[in-house]
Amino acid sequence: MRFMARFDPIFQTALDHMADTHTRRVLRPVQHVGAATVIRDGRELVNFSSNDYLGLSHHPALVARASEWLRLDGTGSGASRLVTGTIPRHMHVETRLAAFKGCEAAVILASGWQTNASVLSALLRLAAGQGAPPQVFTDRLNHASLHQGCMAAGVRQIRFRHNDLDHLDSLLDRHAGDDRAMRVIVTESVFSMDGDRTDIARLAAIARRHGAFTYVDEAHATGVLGPQGRGLCAEHEIDLVMGTFSKALGSFGAYVAGSRALCDWLVNACSGFVFTTAPPPAVLGAMDAALELVPTLDDARARLARNATHIRDVIQRCGLTSGPSTTQIIPIMMGEATRALAFAARLESCGILATAIRPPTVPPNGSRIRLALSAAHSDSMIDQLATAITHAARESA
Ligand code: PMP
Repeated sequence: MRFMARFDPIFQTALDHMADTHTRRVLRPVQHVGAATVIRDGRELVNFSSNDYLGLSHHPALVARASEWLRLDGTGSGASRLVTGTIPRHMHVETRLAAFKGCEAAVILASGWQTNASVLSALLRLAAGQGAPPQVFTDRLNHASLHQGCMAAGVRQIRFRHNDLDHLDSLLDRHAGDDRAMRVIVTESVFSMDGDRTDIARLAAIARRHGAFTYVDEAHATGVLGPQGRGLCAEHEIDLVMGTFSKALGSFGAYVAGSRALCDWLVNACSGFVFTTAPPPAVLGAMDAALELVPTLDDARARLARNATHIRDVIQRCGLTSGPSTTQIIPIMMGEATRALAFAARLESCGILATAIRPPTVPPNGSRIRLALSAAHSDSMIDQLATAITHAARESA
């Protein structure tokens, strides 16, 4: 490739605008030391920004099975699933996954982003062929990949106020009329930036009453919440659950779980499944070991919940707010981006890595510190975080 710079002024103008509005980001590599610490710029920091909620990314069982399957079956799968990319290990992990989720069937995909972007768009295009344009009801704070799925299908979203199921119910009433229109509700069971939960029992009841299909993203609940970490949808009637292996399950990739017919259809119709290379053996090994281990980790989940309650108390006692969080994801609401950046810098000076999240990831003036607790954090790390928050709050008052 010959280096070309003809269009750089366009990119530079966009970058300058981001710098002016404090939204420009740069990649800052960290060296991973363990499940809960990193080294950045030569300094060891306790990591409160990772989604490795159970510390499984360094667990010996995952490392061993990933290494073993890599050694036995090679580094790449060589083709897409429908060509020659499927090996018995894919079927084995998908069977185990379906059992874990309590569903008839499950399909693994390359990433959570790719899953939402491609599964949702395929579903909405199928719905569009049912006689009338589909109606899609989405939570205002849904993840970017869920928006992408709706956008790719060219469907206008009917947005309900964040986590407001009364509003959803009333919108479903208001848009009732055409019986041919397939109605789809798209939401998350735990929201990635606020750490609050959807009342899944109520969601299922509303969907049943309105004859709507339910699509729930369990990326941040899988492994952490629900019986044996099976997610918040585990005991409810939900049509399609997606989740990831990239967070509490400690590795990479994603899944869809649901009925056999749904999964068989996805294998044929979802571009993000059909036109991409099959997940490789090492990734399958890590997935398999995580699925075996996660149901046994009730003690770790209980500790995580206790620590989260404690940290929310600390935040409140400092006169700050952790928003609606009831999970291991705890925002410290800051408002302006510059305030969030200054708070993150203060935490870092106390040995804590907790990144500031700014628009467009969160709404305008919704900048925050996003703390993500992990079962891998020791008691002394949690104490260190509590002290750092108290110190930073005092300095920023
Ligand atoms: N859904 C939600 C709610 C997420 O927060 C994320 C990623 N942070 C994804 C999907 C995408 O998952 P992945 O990182 O595996 O692409």
